[in-house]
Amino acid sequence: MTQTQLKSLKNYIGGEWIEAVSDKTAEVYNPATGEVIAQVPLSISKDLDNAVAVASEAFQSWKEVPVPKRARILFKYQQLLVDHWEELAELVTVENGKSYKEAYGEVLRGIECVEFAAGAPALSMGSQLPSIASGLESGVYRYPIGVVGGITPFNFPMMVPCWMFPMAIVTGNTFVLKPSERTPLLANRLAELLEEAGLPKGVFNIVHGAHDVVNGLLEHEKVGAISFVGSQPVAEYVYKKGTENLKRVQALSGAKNHSIVLKDADLENAATQIISAAFGSAGERCMACSVVAVEEPIADELIEKLVQKANEIKIGNGLDEGVFLGPVIRDQHKERTLQYIETGEKEGATLVRDGRNDESIKREGYFVGPTIFDNVTSEMKIWQDEIFAPVLSISRVKNLKEAVTLTNKSRFANGSCIFTNDGGSVREFRETIDAGMLGVNIGVPAPMAFFPFSGWKDSFYGDLHVNGKDGIEFYTRKKVITTRWI
Ligand code: NAD
Repeated sequence: MTQTQLKSLKNYIGGEWIEAVSDKTAEVYNPATGEVIAQVPLSISKDLDNAVAVASEAFQSWKEVPVPKRARILFKYQQLLVDHWEELAELVTVENGKSYKEAYGEVLRGIECVEFAAGAPALSMGSQLPSIASGLESGVYRYPIGVVGGITPFNFPMMVPCWMFPMAIVTGNTFVLKPSERTPLLANRLAELLEEAGLPKGVFNIVHGAHDVVNGLLEHEKVGAISFVGSQPVAEYVYKKGTENLKRVQALSGAKNHSIVLKDADLENAATQIISAAFGSAGERCMACSVVAVEEPIADELIEKLVQKANEIKIGNGLDEGVFLGPVIRDQHKERTLQYIETGEKEGATLVRDGRNDESIKREGYFVGPTIFDNVTSEMKIWQDEIFAPVLSISRVKNLKEAVTLTNKSRFANGSCIFTNDGGSVREFRETIDAGMLGVNIGVPAPMAFFPFSGWKDSFYGDLHVNGKDGIEFYTRKKVITTRWI
């Protein structure tokens, strides 16, 4: 029996599955059925202290393991993840609700991070200059930081932890993961497979729980760096508190992603991409398309296509064949979404498709149908706030300049897309839009693991992003040696 089949989850500390000291637990639900599938411990500082002590001790030997040997463990891990792909995808669907197809894709994105991190021998090289002056040479060497804490959200139980721990451990750090208490199961399976891959005890640890564990990580003197992904208020808090405690922090935050559709675009492609980006994973993606700015002459035609495609979406349990739109994560989140739909109506937006009316949402589980508003303005809350649900807002604009000006009013700046066939417009968009990840004629421009995941403004706090060369930089510190041999 695997740890994920247990009803009462345990922490993973020093290679052992350990009951939390705290007897407080939270229920874990299958959002598609409302059924309780597990109890997750709400650990306290004593649990965390144990984990950090173990990770800190393990660091002393792990940092001495040659980099190619560490990388070889990740090669084995990659193979195990591939071997267990279907099982992992099913687990993501059961605890998160997204469709199996999306969960399968998420597992791929996690595997890609492991593949990238397995390149550590080349990626973490330093650099040398043999003659900085007569007889003098200098070189840079990279070293791990120590114990790294990872705090992750519910929406990508596989991919987001994989943004962090593969790169952190392959560069010689040890890791304490605090998964989302709403989707804690997959993390335990990741730990079991790491053990099978031959990772020494104590290098990777899991402490389940909520804010007490987060605060413990932020305050612990032996934790050198924090990687956080989650909502904006928590990201800001984690960044401020972590840096106040003199830790290195990267905090990936909330989002409200905009797409711009120009009148020369292939409208069929634009509509298909926007539907997938807005309603895939029930809108619970940090790269979901939440707002469309469309040029007035083609607005009616685009909206007609969007509504038609939204009507064809199959809603239901993500494990069922052909289902595209699963539930949102919890009942409270469904209620919050319904309130936003009411707010949108009160604010004067035109509700062109009402997801509250879909027959197929009248079932167990936390379902909201695809919802589309037209005539949305930047003064409205539905334009400003991250709703994180299948609700799409459309604003009509005169031209690209107005679309960019409107988009740049958002406090968030994770991703932004343009749909056009004009190279000059693409260039203008690229040069003037405030966002870290741009797409041209595609809906979700989420970069692959060898590029940084680069939100701007209130979508990211810190300097170095996850993945890409930034990932190597974040998890290592440098020594510069200057040498004279005469
Ligand atoms: P969340 O902020 O509620 O939770 C994230 C983590 O923080 C969890 O582990 C949770 O236990 C912890 N946490 C929650 N409240 C806390 C508090 N008051 N004090 C300390 N810790 C706390 O986020 P979520 O709802 O799980 O995830 C969705 C959010 O994550 C969305 O806003 C989404 O945009 C964002 N996200 C961003 C990215 C990105 O790349 N920018 C990627 C994925 C998700």
